[in-house]
Amino acid sequence: MIAPVLPTYARADVAFERGEGCWLIAEDGTRYLDFAAGIAVNALGHAHPHLVKALSEQASRLWHTSNLYRVPGQERLAQRLIAASFADTVFFSNSGVEAIEASIKMARRYQYKNGHPERFRTITFEGAFHGRTLAAIAAGGQAKYLEGFGPRAEGFDQVSFGDIKAVEAAIVPETAAMLIEPVQGEGGLRPAPPEFLRALRKLCDEHGLMLIFDEVQTGVGRTGKLFAHEWSGVTPDIMAIAKGIGGGFPMGACLATERAASGMTLGSHASTFGGNPLAMAVGNAVLDVVLAPGFLEHVRDVANFARQQLAGLVAAHPKVFEDVRGEGLMLGLKMRVPNTEFVSALFQQKMLAVGAGDNVVRLLPPLIVEEGDVREALKRLEGAAATFEAQ
Ligand SMILES: *Cc1c(COP(=O)(O)O)cnc(C)c1O
Repeated sequence: MIAPVLPTYARADVAFERGEGCWLIAEDGTRYLDFAAGIAVNALGHAHPHLVKALSEQASRLWHTSNLYRVPGQERLAQRLIAASFADTVFFSNSGVEAIEASIKMARRYQYKNGHPERFRTITFEGAFHGRTLAAIAAGGQAKYLEGFGPRAEGFDQVSFGDIKAVEAAIVPETAAMLIEPVQGEGGLRPAPPEFLRALRKLCDEHGLMLIFDEVQTGVGRTGKLFAHEWSGVTPDIMAIAKGIGGGFPMGACLATERAASGMTLGSHASTFGGNPLAMAVGNAVLDVVLAPGFLEHVRDVANFARQQLAGLVAAHPKVFEDVRGEGLMLGLKMRVPNTEFVSALFQQKMLAVGAGDNVVRLLPPLIVEEGDVREALKRLEGAAATFEAQ
């Protein structure tokens, strides 16, 4: 008999009852050190007082009005995102994949409105992950996500990550855009080299293409900058964000320059729930904290500490780990043992982490993590590593 909840997830057999900062407390009272953060979502950890207050206050006043009316929280959050980024305008969605969908539609529409209705194709990269709608699985191009869902949606051409010659060769008269994660998350914590992003920017400019960054996972402080692309100095035309901006409340956003958004005229796109007052209250509260002086510096400092500690761990356990990778607090351990088994062993040590492609274990702690929490994590990583060495 099928489970009442559609069985599409491989869930660990635990249910959490509450959370505090970097800790999750299970129904039986067991405390877990949370270096998964809901897959890079709980940017400020669990039950952050500022977020709790913002959501509770909004919840007692107004939940939803639809986009038939002005939503002041949207206007405020959009202005703040614009002030802190390359963008001139923002569309609010409820999830990462919807922000991606809006980005792809926007790029196509830009071409359509600017004399190139024939341009609709998007160049994407091997190892990419952009979400699970029909367009996003076509963009991501992973066979396991495409299987059995009918013909792959038209309009995506995938090339090897980091291969600028292949990108150039993939540009055809129908190309509208390129879509890339500045650091591949699900693909295995692979940062795009800055010179590669610069070369993509140049190709886009030369060919009149839209450069789209998928910062759904990397955005909102995860890498130690507000947006990961800031490390490279390259700005996109369009960017999708989601995970961190809601701090656990479902929301996403598509940010764009005025030029890139020029095709998105009245009625061209919409979302019933997108940017509702609850989400906007939380999004603004997340920014209050992330944009406060010293916050991103804290992320960079603790990330440097974590990286040093992890390098020591890898050196001490060469049979278990191969190397450390990633950027900021989006860290990956490339494993010599199966990553799924290591995540399970960590779970036995009461620590949560996330698997990724390329046999990597992702460590994505809340951005409020302290050195003490990292030390605690190291103990548990050591404990899990020891179980493999004893075998
Ligand atoms: C999680 C993720 C998505 C999809 O976000 P959803 O909210 O699950 O739709 C898209 N792109 C990247 C890089 C992600 O990490």
